[in-house]
Amino acid sequence: GSETNDGSVTAESVPSLMKHMPLCMNRLMQGVMSDHHLKYQGRQQLSLFLKGIGLSAEEALRFWQMQFTSGPGSMSIERFNKEYKYTFRHNYGLEGGRINYKPWDCRTILSKPRPSKNEYHGCPYRDLHRDQLADQLQKMGLDQGARLDDVLELSDRGEYQVACTKVFELMHGEKINALLKNGDTVDETSITHPNLYYSRSLYLES
Ligand code: SF4
Repeated sequence: GSETNDGSVTAESVPSLMKHMPLCMNRLMQGVMSDHHLKYQGRQQLSLFLKGIGLSAEEALRFWQMQFTSGPGSMSIERFNKEYKYTFRHNYGLEGGRINYKPWDCRTILSKPRPSKNEYHGCPYRDLHRDQLADQLQKMGLDQGARLDDVLELSDRGEYQVACTKVFELMHGEKINALLKNGDTVDETSITHPNLYYSRSLYLES
């Protein structure tokens, strides 16, 4: 479809793809949309993820400029160009050492400094307080009850990727069951990469 990794993801279509993103990326998206800014680690985590889902360098610049320079209290386009344009181009290997940076996997995300106040990077299954996490999961459409408690329990035990995989299964339960019933194979291995969560979700929708 038009949302697959063929370069057709546009600056405007990114928010509509949030339903396919794991909680870490959902949080970063919510953060950039409400603050019109993201601090360094958050910019890196989200921009490399978006690169991985097929947002081109050109569309990425449009996306970040749009997010950073529109809305109340946001910065000017001049400031964006002066202070931020470089880093986003850099992530696409268009500046500096011209390294083609890869999207971070969960292990890399978990190895970074934890988010402090007004930062949204990291893994929410590790970094959010239990009640905040419950709140976020409910916003994602997971209802209260035993299933939610299971996820919170896994997070408490430090099983972050298992918790994330569980959320994926709960969110896509009907689709997964239909495929299994059909005799199709479904990848049920653990989520180890945000882009894996995304592509698995996209696949189930197609
Ligand atoms: Fe993101 Fe990985 Fe944490 Fe899931 S387990 S929220 S994909 S960092």
